[in-house]
Amino acid sequence: MVKVLKIGGSSLGNKRRVRNVADIIANSWSEGVILAVIVSAVGGITDQLLNCAHTAENNGELAKEKINKIRRKHFDVFAEELKEETTLDQVNRLLDELKDLLKGVSLVRECSPRTLDLVLSFGERLSAFLMTALLRHKGLNAEYVDARDLVITNSNHGNARVLKDETYNWIQYKINKPKIYVITGFIGSNKDGITTTIGRGGSDYTAALFAAALDSESIEIWTDVDGFMSADPRMVKEAFVLPQVSYEEAMEMSFFGAKVIHPQTLVPAIAKNIPVYIKNSFSAKMPGTLISPEIGRASCRERV
Ligand code: ASP
Ligand code: MG
Repeated sequence: MVKVLKIGGSSLGNKRRVRNVADIIANSWSEGVILAVIVSAVGGITDQLLNCAHTAENNGELAKEKINKIRRKHFDVFAEELKEETTLDQVNRLLDELKDLLKGVSLVRECSPRTLDLVLSFGERLSAFLMTALLRHKGLNAEYVDARDLVITNSNHGNARVLKDETYNWIQYKINKPKIYVITGFIGSNKDGITTTIGRGGSDYTAALFAAALDSESIEIWTDVDGFMSADPRMVKEAFVLPQVSYEEAMEMSFFGAKVIHPQTLVPAIAKNIPVYIKNSFSAKMPGTLISPEIGRASCRERV
């Protein structure tokens, strides 16, 4: 059996949340299950990397300070894991690579879209690598997967289009054992192996691609809200979390401003009739919202 989980950046915002997410992952795994966990960068880090890259164009010293802030954040959130020497070495190596890259940007005083994608890739590479270390500490069989080896895109840097056939083949080839794969969201590479990104918030899309390629039985999007609400809770006191919505309803509600997920990104999973659960990592016991292809308005009305 294959299951796909996606962990959003806000669920990785501090030490306590990260541990909470590790428990959620541990509870999702059981003997014989292939568990693909797609992770975003730690909350706020993608924006900080973006800022670092642009700062480096004018002020290399200031960019260095900003990288140190990114470093401190990871050392704070994953303090336990970074006590282990091999993990520490690997993370230092990644951060040194990032520093060198930004030094290059400050020398040429320009960050091209291609270089920016490489800079941004460090967010997901750090979070997925450290989450793998955390799960291993818990005694789980977890493997770090750099999605750049599997998600193949065109060269439209910043918003690259995924080449589905190649990508699905790579995913099926790589993700095939009953264990936990911790996979970087948001990033891919073009046919020449150059790093690309698939658009801001793209980790949901990465998760949907893995779910579709692996014919997973479900996909759980772990975020920081309980799910889709029946009305705007700031305006309607009785607003409640909808237990089920159809894909069309999710699209509609998102169009009218519900900031839960962009259902568009789920198309590959929906096209294969894979049920999508929206779950709140801050209150894991809440049932959340199920987005399914079949369930329509009627079932929602019954609850009102
Ligand atoms: N870290 C990326 C972003 O902030 C991708 C994601 O979170 O889905 O846009
Ligand atoms: Mg993010």
